[in-house]
Amino acid sequence: MSDCIFCRIVRGEIPCSKVYEDEEILAFKDIHPLAPVHLLIIPKRHIASLATATPEDSPLLGRMLELAPRLAVQAGSTDGFRSIVNTGNVGGQEVHHLHIHVLGGDKPLPVMLKY
Ligand code: AMP
Ligand code: ZN
Repeated sequence: MSDCIFCRIVRGEIPCSKVYEDEEILAFKDIHPLAPVHLLIIPKRHIASLATATPEDSPLLGRMLELAPRLAVQAGSTDGFRSIVNTGNVGGQEVHHLHIHVLGGDKPLPVMLKY
């Protein structure tokens, strides 16, 4: 999956505004923020979507979810946030490398069908 844009970000071939990194996970600011806080949390390893994740990925997915509140607070969303995982065609997924959107700010977000 060498031409996957998020794999290229993981490899440092495309710059990102990084907010967190460990051995397995990278988090960075969405390039087109739709809220005052808009982060993406991704696995470093290419997983195409939630639909193709396997039971072996569960601990990794758990860690990614666990990071969301921490990164939201760090980014200034101190009173909650919204996390979204667009999956496949119906979910409107545009980048086919699993990612959790973390959206927030200092005011309640509008109700939205797609983040
Ligand atoms: P999705 O529709 O869930 O696949 O969302 C993909 C997200 O990736 C969109 O919100 C894009 O703005 C974001 N995105 C695409 N390319 C980049 C990039 N190079 N750096 C940061 N975010 C990106
Ligand atoms: Zn990828």
